[in-house]
Amino acid sequence: MSGAPFARAETIAVGSELLALGRVDTNSGQIAARLATLGIDVVARSVVGDHAGHLELAVRTALQRADLVVLTGGLGPTDDDLTRQAVASALGRSMHEDAEQLARIEARFARRAIPMPAINRRQALLIEGALRLDNPNGTAPGQWIDLGAQAIALLPGPPREMGPMLEGLVEGPLATRVGRARTRSRGLKVAGRSESAVESTLQPLYAEWRAQDPPIDATILAALGRIELHLFVRGEDEASAVTALETAIGAAADALGPAVYTTRDESLEELAGRLLREAGWRVAVAESCTGGMLGARITDVPGSSAWLDGGLITYSNALKTALAGVPAALIAEHGAVSEPVARALAAGARARCGTEVGIGITGIAGPDGGTEAKPVGTVFIAIETPRLAACRQARFVGDRAVVRQQSVSAALDMLRLALTGLDPIGEAR
Ligand code: AMP
Ligand code: MG
Repeated sequence: MSGAPFARAETIAVGSELLALGRVDTNSGQIAARLATLGIDVVARSVVGDHAGHLELAVRTALQRADLVVLTGGLGPTDDDLTRQAVASALGRSMHEDAEQLARIEARFARRAIPMPAINRRQALLIEGALRLDNPNGTAPGQWIDLGAQAIALLPGPPREMGPMLEGLVEGPLATRVGRARTRSRGLKVAGRSESAVESTLQPLYAEWRAQDPPIDATILAALGRIELHLFVRGEDEASAVTALETAIGAAADALGPAVYTTRDESLEELAGRLLREAGWRVAVAESCTGGMLGARITDVPGSSAWLDGGLITYSNALKTALAGVPAALIAEHGAVSEPVARALAAGARARCGTEVGIGITGIAGPDGGTEAKPVGTVFIAIETPRLAACRQARFVGDRAVVRQQSVSAALDMLRLALTGLDPIGEAR
C-alpha cells in the first residue's frame, strides 16, 4: 500500500529523565533534521514523561495535527516503558507477542550467555497491524503503523539505537511516502562578528531570497565566537536548488567579507589545521589565561600532530620568563597582561619550539583581577609568522569560561586570517 506523501510530522520524546533529570532530548532534533531533507516539516515537538495517560493524550493530539508521528523512547523492558501500550490505547488496538521478535531477543541474550529476564518478553509485543522495525543495536524493536493517510513510528530512546533505525525507516516504510520535493541546505560560518552585525549586513539579501521562486529561507545561529548562516530551499529539481543555494551563499559571503571563514561543514580549528598543512607550517602556543585550552582545541582535530608542535602553559610571571623567554623587565614595565608580553609570548613559543608560527595569549579571565584600565575580559592575543607579527587587544564580555573560550576562538581566527594572507586584526571587531 502506498498513500499520499507526508508533509507534516510531529515528534514525541518519551521519558521522565528528559523532563526532570537534565537529560537532553537529542533525538527529536535529529529526526526533524532528517525529515526536513525529505521535505517533511516537523510542525510540533513534545517531551512527555513516563505516564500512560499523558502519553496517550500526546499521541491523540499529535494525530490531530500531523500526518506522521514519530515517538522515541519508552520501549524498554521495565514498568516505566509505556510507549507501546499508550500508542495501542490511543488507536484502540490490541497487542500481540511476535514470535520471531521473541526469538531474536532470546538469541541476543544467548549470545551473551545470560538467561533472558522475564520482563524482556514485553519487548516482543507488537501493536496490531504494526510492522516490526529491527534494531541491530538493542533488544527493543521499533514499530511502524500505517494508518492510511497517517502513520506512527516508534523508535527506541538510546541515540545510538535510534539513529540507525531512523535511517532504516527513511529507506524502508517511509520511502514510498515522501514527495518529490526535498529541502536542501547550505551554510557559512563567521568569526569575530556579533549576531546583529551579521544580521544587518544580510538583511537586504533576505528580501531578495524570499522573493525568489522557490524562495530561500535563512536562519542565523549564534554560538560562542561564531555565527552560522543556514539557507534552505525546498523544491523538486536538485540542480536548480543547488545552484540557487550556491549563488545565495556566494552573495552572503561577498557581503560579509573575510569574516566568513568557511562555507563548508568544518570548524575553525579544522580549517586552521588545513591551512597550516597547506602552508607547510607548524605552530606552537604560549598560553597564560587560557591555560592550555588553545592547544586542546587545536588537538581536537585528528591528525593535528602534522601542524602542532606543542605549547607552553605560562601562567606565572616566572614561567613566562623561564619557559617563553619573556624579559622580566618587560613584565615589570607593562604588566603580564599587555601587548608587549603577548607579543613576547608568541615570539617565545615560536623560538623555543622552533616552529614557523607562534601564538601568545595573556588576559584577565576574571572574576577578579580587573582594573579600570584593564577590566575583566581584557585579553591580548599575539601571532608571529615568518611574514608578520600582530597583536590584538580584545575586550570579551562574559564569565570566566566565556572569556577563555572567546580568547581561543579569536586566536584561531587570527591564525586563519594570517594564513590566508589577510590582516589578522583588521577583521576583528
Ligand atoms: P528508553 O528507550 O526510554 O528506555 O530510553 C533509554 C535511554 O535512552 C534513556 O535513559 C536515555 O538515556 C536515552 N534517551 C531516551 N530518549 C532520548 C532522547 N529523546 N534523546 C536523547 N536520549 C534519549
Ligand atoms: Mg525511558
